Amino acid sequence: MRKLMVVGNWKMHYTVIESLQLVMGLNNNYTRDVNGQTVEIVVCPPFTALADVGRFLTQTEIKLGAQDAFYEPQGAYTGEISVPMLKELNCEYVIVGHSERRHILKEDEELIQKKFAAVLRYGLIPILCVGETLDQRQKGETEKVIKRQLQSALKGISEENSQRFVVAYEPVWAIGTGQNATPEQANEVCSLIRKELSDILGNGAGDWISILYGGSVKPNNAAELISQPEIDGLLVGGASLDARDFTSIINAAKK
Ligand code: PEP
Repeated sequence: MRKLMVVGNWKMHYTVIESLQLVMGLNNNYTRDVNGQTVEIVVCPPFTALADVGRFLTQTEIKLGAQDAFYEPQGAYTGEISVPMLKELNCEYVIVGHSERRHILKEDEELIQKKFAAVLRYGLIPILCVGETLDQRQKGETEKVIKRQLQSALKGISEENSQRFVVAYEPVWAIGTGQNATPEQANEVCSLIRKELSDILGNGAGDWISILYGGSVKPNNAAELISQPEIDGLLVGGASLDARDFTSIINAAKK
């Protein structure tokens, strides 16, 4: 189902205590419903803070997400965390294929497909990140790259799961750079994603899947981005680390 969403990706920031401070500050500041509009708010702290933040969030309407997950449920995979482990901590969402994992941790399309499938298999909701690099955009390859990333991640998806995920369009050149895509650029690619989802999954699936934009979203550009017809929500990195900034972005999403 297509939902209005604001997701905070805290990346490798904050200890357990700091994470609790942030989420408590956020819970005191924000309101989920305004004028009958409900925003699904998700925070994705580092693994080490998930248990404590997850316990706190059970008393709130904020949802918990993880920044990554491994594809096997258990086994000899030193350093990895499985989807069932995340489920036990009240996680509902898992980010898959974030550009920092694709580019810094060298995750390839095959690994991302396995992770995406595993998140669905164990009952959580993947937030699949796709996006082109600056070089790819300048060469006019944006459409080709986005289509390839979607086709590869969705390989083998069952009909039952065909609308049970979220896509985030995150141009690599906009992440953490302070240079967001213009609302028109973001809308254009989100529209392309919607069409490609329908082509891959059939039944007009693209019309029912939430598509978020991420990349240098700040309180001063959130309203313009979210007002675009093809953008259902925002994935926020840096600005989600401050309760007041994140609340401003949530409020902008509601207008
Ligand atoms: C992100 O981490 O997904 C992101 C969009 O980061 P930032 O908002 O800092 O660009």
